[in-house]
Amino acid sequence: MPAQLIDGKAVAATVEAEVRDEITRLGFSPGLVAVRVGNDPASEIYVRNKARKARELGLRGDELIFPESMTEAELLAEIARLNGDDSVDGILVQLPLPKQIGARKVIDAIDPAKDVDGFHPVNVGLLHLGRPTLAPCTPAGCIRLIESTGVTIEGAHAVVLGRSDIVGKPMAAMLLQRHATVTICHSRSRDLGAITRQADILVAAVGRSIMVRGDMIKPGAVVIDVGMNRVESPFADRIAHDADKSRLLAKNGSVLLGDVDFATAREIAAWITPVPGGVGPMTIAMLMKNTVTAAASRRGA
Ligand code: NAP
Repeated sequence: MPAQLIDGKAVAATVEAEVRDEITRLGFSPGLVAVRVGNDPASEIYVRNKARKARELGLRGDELIFPESMTEAELLAEIARLNGDDSVDGILVQLPLPKQIGARKVIDAIDPAKDVDGFHPVNVGLLHLGRPTLAPCTPAGCIRLIESTGVTIEGAHAVVLGRSDIVGKPMAAMLLQRHATVTICHSRSRDLGAITRQADILVAAVGRSIMVRGDMIKPGAVVIDVGMNRVESPFADRIAHDADKSRLLAKNGSVLLGDVDFATAREIAAWITPVPGGVGPMTIAMLMKNTVTAAASRRGA
């Protein structure tokens, strides 16, 4: 029997309802400021969508847009201003930044209490200690998706493919905190399939299209596909036409593919996230959740 789909849009809607309820309980609108430097087209869309979703849910969502030529000192001054502005509960700086600006320096400058991306070293440390914190949005969303299946994380063998600071490492920390036995794989791991075939829960965050095939998956596993790979192909429209429309989007001669080969994986797994419509919608929803959490904790509400 093919795997059941984990519906990221539906789970995201549940998280968004929680955000609205929390805003009602707080009795004020938390403020989120999304900072963008330069004109990267993908960043432009991400930042606009985040600010728009914030407003849709009843937060105050602002975009701050600065020119590509902005200096590091100027951006650090803006961060200091936002840190000091009591009406701002959450600050996010869209990456990548122009080359003259050090991303690490900027992230380190954000007040950890307002760091709704969960990238500040203080929040990273708290996460790895298993203490309450603002956790990175994408892996936090993956946890909600896994929980939505009803499959028990405690005692399960979870394999995380990828060890990036924003997905793989925090994902592993969150699964460990929930008492999974966790294995992390990366580009130097040997015989990936032998490891992934042991996974009751498999999270793929590699950034390589359809790398994880059905024969790398344990029968009955939960498969979470974080990958979002836009692949240029002269056959894009045909691929999108031939395959499951809910999974592939053909746009301007390219298709959006996950890290998992959905067609073969869904024959083996018990649960699987589609791309798009799986992890993607969760990231913004968890960002909103972090913003209300930050507001409540900063203001002691
Ligand atoms: P990243 O920083 O490039 O990290 C990729 C990781 O995969 C690295 O740890 C790398 O290992 C590992 N890797 C690369 N090739 C491998 C291979 N052949 N075998 C095993 N491991 C391999 O990427 P990321 O930022 O974590 O993102 C991963 C994917 O998730 C991307 O497709 C990205 O677009 C997507 N993403 C989606 C969302 C969302 O909201 N849906 C959010 C964030 C990211 P090394 O460390 O050894 O180099």
